[in-house]
Amino acid sequence: MTPLERLIAREIAQTGPISTARYMELCLSHPRHGYYATRDPLGAAGDFTTAPEISQMFGEMIGVWVAAVWGSMGRPEFNLVELGPGRGTLMADMLRVLNNAGCKPSAWLVETSPALRAEQAKRVPGANQAGALQDVPDGPMILVANEFLDALPVHQYLRTPQGWREQQIGLSNDALAFGLSAPAPDRETDRDWLEVSPMADAITAEIGQRLARHPGAALIVDYGYTGADVPPGPSLQALRNHEHVPPLHAPGECDLTWLIDFDRTRALLAAHTATGLTSQGAFLTAMGIGPRAQSLAQAAPRDADTIADALERLTAPDQMGTLFKALAATSPGLPPPPGFEARP
Ligand code: SAH
Repeated sequence: MTPLERLIAREIAQTGPISTARYMELCLSHPRHGYYATRDPLGAAGDFTTAPEISQMFGEMIGVWVAAVWGSMGRPEFNLVELGPGRGTLMADMLRVLNNAGCKPSAWLVETSPALRAEQAKRVPGANQAGALQDVPDGPMILVANEFLDALPVHQYLRTPQGWREQQIGLSNDALAFGLSAPAPDRETDRDWLEVSPMADAITAEIGQRLARHPGAALIVDYGYTGADVPPGPSLQALRNHEHVPPLHAPGECDLTWLIDFDRTRALLAAHTATGLTSQGAFLTAMGIGPRAQSLAQAAPRDADTIADALERLTAPDQMGTLFKALAATSPGLPPPPGFEARP
């Protein structure tokens, strides 16, 4: 039993079964035992690898996107905000490209983990740090979030013969075990399951409201689905050492994520902004990742294989290219951002 598992078992014994959202919150963010609170999961000995850690090309292509959006805004002063910046690699890669384009935004890193804040300060010296989007001053903004929403606490609801019920975590023979709540309110959907994160919804709505008040854009990249490719069941998953493990395994020592319902996220943004959705592969290709890979390989022939591998991992449909999607939102009145011209 991990120390956190003992704490969770005690909470359940005292107050009854908990939601998957409460479980995630404890596992990822508990101040002493939480996964993100205590470690840098993206490091060399980490549990998973994200796109910015695969190659500098990922952050560079997003930097190209930010520079183009900034141009379409009339090159104002603005806040460049990143939510959940991990090690700070994406922000550092973006800022290098922006600097070359003569664009010097005020950088804001929104992060809750003390361990990762320290990493970010090393890679992006001089950037502002905030604990929540609300703490970033209002004004023109371009916001980026990669693999951020998927780490926020999520509730799971299942359709059963007795109606909708929430997935819960209780105790069975003193061990954590999944169970179902009493029948819960009906859900208006023809699906058999739903994952709902009030925190992700609130942050998404806040992004939209900010873009309605001041010019700017947001780019949300994550793994997830639309109505066309809904997975067969709830998506909450745990990863340790790059391997899937059961979600109740070793609480606090594994990463927990879920797949974003991009239709839901997009609808929340579309209340205030113009939106577009595309795949990560198509987005990076539109931003010029192919030619960038070529020029990097020409400059460092010994790294050519590594660069080709990274390009493949980031863009190929059977790797990150299709499962990962890019959702863009722009303030009313701005043209569609690059990569989203068709507003598909
Ligand atoms: N974007 C990074 C890291 C992804 S991991 C990358 O692509 O490599 C998820 C990140 O979100 C971590 O930095 C984690 O500490 C942060 N995070 C989780 N919950 C958060 C919250 N409520 N507010 C801000 N950051 C959060």
